[in-house]
Amino acid sequence: MPEVFDTTLEYAQTQDQMDTLFPFRERFLFPQHNGEDVRYFCGNSLGLQPKSVEYLMIRELRDWAKHGVEGHFRAANPWFSYHHLFSERLAKIVGAKKDEVVAMNTLTVNLHLMMMSFYRPEGKRYKILMEAGAFPSDQYAMETQVRMYGYDPSDAIIEVAPKAGEHLIDDEAIKEAIEKAGDSLAIVMIGGVNYYTGQFFDLEGIVKAAHKVGAKCGFDLAHAVGNIPLQLHDWNADFACWCSYKYLNSGPGGVGGVFVHERHGDNPEVFRLAGWWGNDEKSRFKMQKGFVPQKGAASWQMSNAPVFNMVAHNASLDLFDKAGIDNLRKKSISMTSYLEFLLRQIDNLEFEIITPKETERRGAQLSMLFGADGRQVFDHLTENGVIADWREPNVIRVAPVPMYNTYEDCYRLYELLVAFKK
Ligand SMILES: *Cc1c(COP(=O)(O)O)cnc(C)c1O
Repeated sequence: MPEVFDTTLEYAQTQDQMDTLFPFRERFLFPQHNGEDVRYFCGNSLGLQPKSVEYLMIRELRDWAKHGVEGHFRAANPWFSYHHLFSERLAKIVGAKKDEVVAMNTLTVNLHLMMMSFYRPEGKRYKILMEAGAFPSDQYAMETQVRMYGYDPSDAIIEVAPKAGEHLIDDEAIKEAIEKAGDSLAIVMIGGVNYYTGQFFDLEGIVKAAHKVGAKCGFDLAHAVGNIPLQLHDWNADFACWCSYKYLNSGPGGVGGVFVHERHGDNPEVFRLAGWWGNDEKSRFKMQKGFVPQKGAASWQMSNAPVFNMVAHNASLDLFDKAGIDNLRKKSISMTSYLEFLLRQIDNLEFEIITPKETERRGAQLSMLFGADGRQVFDHLTENGVIADWREPNVIRVAPVPMYNTYEDCYRLYELLVAFKK
């Protein structure tokens, strides 16, 4: 039965009462506005802090004080093997085998490291295909990758754009562009969910199209991870990377993560820039010449784990494990559909929702493109305790995050928009 929404507060509150994930809200710290929790719609940009982070951080500091260097083996979570803490839980979130994922570095750094392995231009096969309007960091990364090999970005980077007058990119247009580029294409690199429109691409179909022309395929999942369940192994992606501070609530600059498909991860012939932490753990401290990659994605690690930076990741992944990514997605589909319904009832404001209507083509986020008064509307929300996100030139992004947002949050946002007066 399709869900029937209505515009009353009672409806929202009843949905919250029936929501089995509602208690997870209690496990987060909310910024305050006039003594009350803000209505936080920015989890797509920086997730909230799990309450347990403070205790876990103090425990790590105490272990350092108490053990010094011996904390590598004696800390409650020994630092020597700290990154192992995350693999199993991350693997569930991105649909991978445990050895195919590792938490390390940060997103753009990882994107470059993955490109070092999987962008290997040769002869006429040197082009990169990506979506137009990608996050600037990804654009800069791709530009400098092609320059490093002596190519001109305007020739070597193919961007697939929306049709004139449209905001979204047709998945079929991406596949057609891949086919057309054929054996000139070295790699396809797509942002899983576009940060601006909230569009989720047909990742499985894109991998297939890329492999069909002999190209590799990787994803930037910054806005997809923890938002939409993924199946990276089954989709046969070559690699993916993500950050952890958006939907994964792991704090500003939090540790990133990568997926490397096992067919590459377990193949020592695949080139990777090496450091001691990627070396076989049995011989890591032997300090000998000759890099011996350990199994899987972990062999891409270079440096020892940034333990303090990983504490919040540990806290947050626990909550994801308890809630379950599929349960979160179910609530997310329902809550975002509800918010979309409410937004469509508004007739005192001029805006267009540019995020896809189909739930399978989007995650939690809705992007509202305003006419003239977008900025005033945004300020009105902020002044009234609603934290949304402003993107130039005229977009307000809102993401009801299933881990801690409520139906009532959505209702209050709607109520404020209806009350907006110029
Ligand atoms: C958030 C985001 C980034 C940020 O990169 P960092 O290296 O973590 O600073 C990069 N790419 C995309 C697509 C993003 O959404």
